[in-house]
Amino acid sequence: MAHKDPSKFKIGTQLTLLGRNPGEQYGFVNSPVYRGSTVVFKSMDDIEAGRARFAYGTHGNPTIANLEDAWTALAGAAGTVMAPSGLGAISLALFASTKAGDHVLMPDCVYRPTRNFCTGILEKYGVAVEYYDPMIGAGIEKLMRPNTSTLFMEAPGSQSFEVQDVPAMCAVAKKRGVKTIIDNTWATPIFFRAHELGCDISLEAGTKYLGGHSDLLLGIVSANAATWPALRSAYDLISILPGPEDCFLALRGLRSMHLRLKEAERRGLEMAHWLKKRPEVLKVLHPAFPECPGHEFWKRDFTGSSGLFSVVLDPRYTRKGLAAMLDGLELFSMGFSWGGFESLVTPFDCAEYRTVTVWKPGGLAIRLQIGLEDMEDLKADLDQGFERLRKNS
Ligand SMILES: *Cc1c(COP(=O)(O)O)cnc(C)c1O
Repeated sequence: MAHKDPSKFKIGTQLTLLGRNPGEQYGFVNSPVYRGSTVVFKSMDDIEAGRARFAYGTHGNPTIANLEDAWTALAGAAGTVMAPSGLGAISLALFASTKAGDHVLMPDCVYRPTRNFCTGILEKYGVAVEYYDPMIGAGIEKLMRPNTSTLFMEAPGSQSFEVQDVPAMCAVAKKRGVKTIIDNTWATPIFFRAHELGCDISLEAGTKYLGGHSDLLLGIVSANAATWPALRSAYDLISILPGPEDCFLALRGLRSMHLRLKEAERRGLEMAHWLKKRPEVLKVLHPAFPECPGHEFWKRDFTGSSGLFSVVLDPRYTRKGLAAMLDGLELFSMGFSWGGFESLVTPFDCAEYRTVTVWKPGGLAIRLQIGLEDMEDLKADLDQGFERLRKNS
């Protein structure tokens, strides 16, 4: 049984069907892991003509291709490539869309390693990178120059959660012939239909909700029909691929991704509402909350929220108090990344790197990823943490 057109089904059904074909796998439900460098040809004719679906391991293999094809269907894209990390996906998308002499627009709220890639690599290769206020909307047109090639977006912002007006910005970019890229890690195609809303390239860290278990690194870059040939060509030239085991794990993650995301949404919202009522919390930065910048765009353009958000603490609390709170937590660990089964918390200060907007949230800020632990246990952990915060501030 192979379904030629899973797209006629609803998303949960699609996720059970995509990227596998039992008829070609001796009936086994899941596709096998293909490892390999060399691919052999049947004849001199074939090798001279390069007649093969995969001519060599650097062009991918059936395990990677299954994941690519599944994602293309899920994202409503024309094609997808897989990178060995989310940051690898970002660099690939930018390599595919820029050349020396170009001008690139980046939101000031962008994931910090993206900024580091721009400074350390793009600028070195003669690409001018200009940062913009993420809430600029259609006003982005004023920053466009004749040599602007790429408009990069991220919604919501990595730590600060501003939601950008993506359709308005894409409309301006399209009119000016500028390619648009969005980092869609937070919402995934399940909650944000990037290509349908006008983005040429949508990328994300499969490390987060696709993997879902903090046990792999993976990057995903999908493109619409107009942009796909350039993306695939850059990919084949650079040839930085994920390992097939990681793609196998990602295909496994794909089957339950919508369930995990919906649960992450439910838990994230419950915890955000609980935190909002705490006297220690000044404000909650969660796109589903009206005080989050761009909340109206989230309401209009997204069909859900995931389990990552930030809170700003009341200004009376000190760094020492926060350290006592975080150091003593039993269930929330301090660590980067998110989207796994375990709860995480990180302190952050965007003022360290912002260049065109001012980050002054009014108190110390922390970012939370709500995992699959019991909600009462998690609240009790934070409750005791707040007590340490109060006592040590
Ligand atoms: C984590 C993350 C990335 C990078 O993913 P890695 O696989 O960790 O390199 C990119 N963008 C956003 C928004 C992320 O949160």
